[in-house]
Amino acid sequence: MKAFTYEHPATLAQAAAASHRPGAKFIAGGTNLLDLMKLQVETPTHLIDINRLSLDRIEETANGGLRIGTLVRNSDLAADLRVRRKYGVLSRALLAGASAQLRNKATTGGNLLQRTRCIYFYDVTKPCNKRVPGSGCAAIAGFNRGLAVLGGSDQCIATHPSDMAVAMRALDAQVETVNAAGETRSIPIADLHRLPGNTPHLETTLRAGEIITSVILPPPPPGIQFYRKVRDRASYAFALVSVAAIVETTGGRIRAARLAFGGLAPKPWRVPRAEETLAGAPARADSFDTAATEVLDGARGYGGNDFKIPLTRRTLHAVLAEVTRT
Ligand code: SF4
Repeated sequence: MKAFTYEHPATLAQAAAASHRPGAKFIAGGTNLLDLMKLQVETPTHLIDINRLSLDRIEETANGGLRIGTLVRNSDLAADLRVRRKYGVLSRALLAGASAQLRNKATTGGNLLQRTRCIYFYDVTKPCNKRVPGSGCAAIAGFNRGLAVLGGSDQCIATHPSDMAVAMRALDAQVETVNAAGETRSIPIADLHRLPGNTPHLETTLRAGEIITSVILPPPPPGIQFYRKVRDRASYAFALVSVAAIVETTGGRIRAARLAFGGLAPKPWRVPRAEETLAGAPARADSFDTAATEVLDGARGYGGNDFKIPLTRRTLHAVLAEVTRT
């Protein structure tokens, strides 16, 4: 690991101001950043530890939603009674992520900003456009079993590894930020992560020095909430495919559906056309199949990850059958 300096600011203003130092990086739980530093994938020269900031509370909003502080630990968020009662999809997604020890350290903001687990990104001897722009992508013709079949580019096919973010995408969460000048912003989670295009090293729409302060969940939509994660082993593994579903049914028909997918794309993936198709459709296999075809429109495998395309279809069928069962 390379040498770095460290500070522990007591206020948001101090933290944001410190971010202007060259080579500065925020750290909270550190469950991803420390690994990246040990491998010299990330080499910050100054760490700003934000754990003293008072951003670790879960509060109800005036309209019946929740504000989740950026420092709320993944374990605490999954266990919160309000989350378990009203946002079951989020609690399930959190508990499907990582291990108990990691969830005890990992924070809400850090979870959203974690980096891909593409093996070439972590191997500094291999070309990787995300780590070194213009160096190439070893994964496209290499080991790409866990990588994207939707939303990638000829520069990068990395997937976003978060389960939590997939549930938040289905819930239409908003990400609140502040910058060094004290200016705040609210970003729909759909717009937080970028697709790689020609600039895979740019992963989010956050600006220099901007800190995530909280995530707002709107009041929960009606319907059954469900999260299914398909992976190589039952715990401590990233999703090959995951589905966050919120589905309302009436009289054997689907009234409304929200579907977000993990493990398929560089960001939590949602296809409005598939949801529109399901709205009003009978809750049966042919409707599920049409929706799956729309979700997978434009999907492309790279050899090792071809299996994700039929796996997504089967997983979506299983999830929709489960949530529409009467
Ligand atoms: Fe790097 Fe992206 Fe290619 Fe992986 S898929 S090697 S992260 S450029």
